[in-house]
Amino acid sequence: MAREVRGPAAAELEIDLGAIAANYGLLRERARPAATAAVVKADAYGLGLAPVARTLHAAGCRQFFVARLDEGVALRRLLAEAEIFVLDGVGRGEEETVFAHRLVPVLNHPGELELWSGYARRLARRLPAAIHLDTGMTRLGFSVAAATAVDVEALAPLELRLVMSHLACADEPDHPLNAAQLRRFLDAAARFPGIPRSLAASSGIFLGDAYRFDLCRPGVALYGVNPVPGRPNPVRPVVRLVAPVLQVHEVDAPGTVGYGATYPVRPGMRIATVPVGYADGILRSASNRATARVGGIEVPYAGRVSMDLIGLDVTALPASAVAPGTPVELLGGPDSVDRLAAQAGTIGYEVLTRLGHRFRRRYLASEEPA
Ligand SMILES: *Cc1c(COP(=O)(O)O)cnc(C)c1O
Repeated sequence: MAREVRGPAAAELEIDLGAIAANYGLLRERARPAATAAVVKADAYGLGLAPVARTLHAAGCRQFFVARLDEGVALRRLLAEAEIFVLDGVGRGEEETVFAHRLVPVLNHPGELELWSGYARRLARRLPAAIHLDTGMTRLGFSVAAATAVDVEALAPLELRLVMSHLACADEPDHPLNAAQLRRFLDAAARFPGIPRSLAASSGIFLGDAYRFDLCRPGVALYGVNPVPGRPNPVRPVVRLVAPVLQVHEVDAPGTVGYGATYPVRPGMRIATVPVGYADGILRSASNRATARVGGIEVPYAGRVSMDLIGLDVTALPASAVAPGTPVELLGGPDSVDRLAAQAGTIGYEVLTRLGHRFRRRYLASEEPA
């Protein structure tokens, strides 16, 4: 078997657009009667803005959120009609770009409101905007005091499309900050009567009717990560990462695997090496903790994850089952992203957004009619 030669060593990342469309449909049902936008910041959580945004649009989504202005510009080129909110808002010198691409800046503080409303006055047009209220995250948004003090004059040239806030602990339903943020949001949003309101992202949708308001803004749950940790995952898995074995070591003397010599081996053990590493987004903190699957059997990572390679202890499999070229599933099936995240000491968001660009990416077509 040591003499067998593999085929091409291409790891492949499979992204199931049909599952993304189905997850959008499921979240939209859960959110009703609120409308459901899609958050596609950071290249749609690393999965590819163009295919993901087109899939969501075909599934009926008409409102999108991005973080950066550049992301909004890129999305406008893909979707001529959608409403696109830019969470970072608008900075000095960016007004024209925001306007030219018909983006809706999410205004995060009084200076930004002044800037955008001054620009609207100079153009002598009403420009769209959203207002972000900080109700307890201390990240972005008007403080409740600043929202209360908003100058109605400054709002006059704007068409306010949305008043929103963001929950810090929505994935912990019993956390007291959820109710506190809800209360502050209700109080502060009352300052903007008749304007649609939005509070819930993926996990917030599952906190109950009171959190859904007019628009929900899921991101990560669209991409298969469990929005209700500790309970059964309501969404379908989206990614699958498969790499072929490069080499199998039949251990014939006591030794160790990888940098730092952290995984001891003894004669009779077999170690398979796959061409995926931390440069591809498999975090080094998963070393000696995570598992992959070969032919449906779970096999542990052996030794440190290196830049380009991971060792796997395949001793539990029959020798005939693992050879150069044998496919290894590093991600795939229900909750694999959440599982790897837990093993690496992080969250599914980080696993997804770090998935690299050395893989061949294969998109499974949407089941929804385009
Ligand atoms: C990222 C983000 C979201 C989406 O959050 P998920 O937890 O991925 O659903 C929604 N709203 C804001 C303000 C965000 O920054």
